[in-house]
Amino acid sequence: MNAQLEHTTAALLEDEVAGRYPDARGRYGPFGGRYVPETLVAPLERLADACRLLRDEGFLAEFSAELRAWAGRPTALTPARGLSRRWGAEVWLKREDLAHTGAHKINNAIGQVQLAKRLGARRVIAETGAGQHGVATAAACARLGMPCTVYMGALDMERQAPNVGRMRLMGATVVAVLNGDRTLRAAVDEALRDWVSDPDGTYYCLGSAIGPHPYPYLVRELQSVIGREARQQLLDAAGRLPDAAAACVGGGSNAIGLFHAFLADRSVALLGFEAGGRGSGLGENAASIAHGRPGVLHGCYSQLLQDVDGQVQETHSVSAGLDYPLVGPEHALLALTGRVRYEAIADDVALAALAECCAAEGILPAIESAHALAGAREWARTHAGATILVCLSGRGDKDLKTLEATLLAGAGAAA
Ligand SMILES: *Cc1c(COP(=O)(O)O)cnc(C)c1O
Repeated sequence: MNAQLEHTTAALLEDEVAGRYPDARGRYGPFGGRYVPETLVAPLERLADACRLLRDEGFLAEFSAELRAWAGRPTALTPARGLSRRWGAEVWLKREDLAHTGAHKINNAIGQVQLAKRLGARRVIAETGAGQHGVATAAACARLGMPCTVYMGALDMERQAPNVGRMRLMGATVVAVLNGDRTLRAAVDEALRDWVSDPDGTYYCLGSAIGPHPYPYLVRELQSVIGREARQQLLDAAGRLPDAAAACVGGGSNAIGLFHAFLADRSVALLGFEAGGRGSGLGENAASIAHGRPGVLHGCYSQLLQDVDGQVQETHSVSAGLDYPLVGPEHALLALTGRVRYEAIADDVALAALAECCAAEGILPAIESAHALAGAREWARTHAGATILVCLSGRGDKDLKTLEATLLAGAGAAA
């Protein structure tokens, strides 16, 4: 790195740690912003304005009460004795798999639906890929009495049938998206189209730390409960901060929720793990930081998987929740400044880590979360005796069909 660039990235990091991002234009250094049709500018302005409520005592009391009494927070911090022995490190798991509906997504969904009510919206819409964000939003809407419509790619509806059933049971309308790639990317396009047609009466509940400003900020604030809790729980239980904190990165919401509490603790290494899929070639992975270049998707400028002509690439990952071609803009900044180290984890390496966690801890993690476990395990190899905090973003029951076709098929063949 030349001296000029080093100086620039150091200044960017200083601004980030001081909490100066997003700036007034919704930017995180060079990333972020708001690339949307004219009709969405005013509603996004209103939403940015409503983010004042994130500092409002009444709103926060209501949010905390729902997190506690309905969503099951605080989630446990588990000393992972089996993994610690195997890895030669002290491993702690932040158990978002124990949160209501089985993942961290509920923190964001309940907070945004509360916000929708305050804004006077008549209905809530959402997009979903694997169905986890759709289920969380449907649950939050049922809880708070809001009509809910979820857009889901037709291909995903086939692959994730149980989640479609869960959403419908909770009263949501699930709309099959038949255009485009018939997966998450097309579902986001469709949700944005719906929102454009009624930006005042409809609230768009976005599921990760992506999208136009203020969504990356809003989602980060709602998810930062993960890191705040974990930091305090570890101080209480072990009397110290971790040497490293690790999370998987799709759009980046569980990771930014974990990292934010530790940004200023320079002694804590922050590690983000993307979906390395089957390899480093175009279309073989969903690792936007490792293999992408800056570009715009769904209203946001960030690291994007694209070909030489700027066409957005198809992605692949064994975990549906990480299978998206863009990463949140704050992660793009954290990668640029070097504060967080990002790495891609291959499908089979993540699956092996999942199996190890089941056997050593009696916990079946989501395949997404297994990317964080695999990366943390790798880090532990060169940091014997270190204390490592891993965000277990969700539970793996939803992945049984995939596991039957992979890990369990292998076990069957071997027996
Ligand atoms: C959706 C999901 C993810 C990926 O989303 P982020 O916004 O990157 O956190 C990770 N883990 C689980 C269990 C998920 O459901």
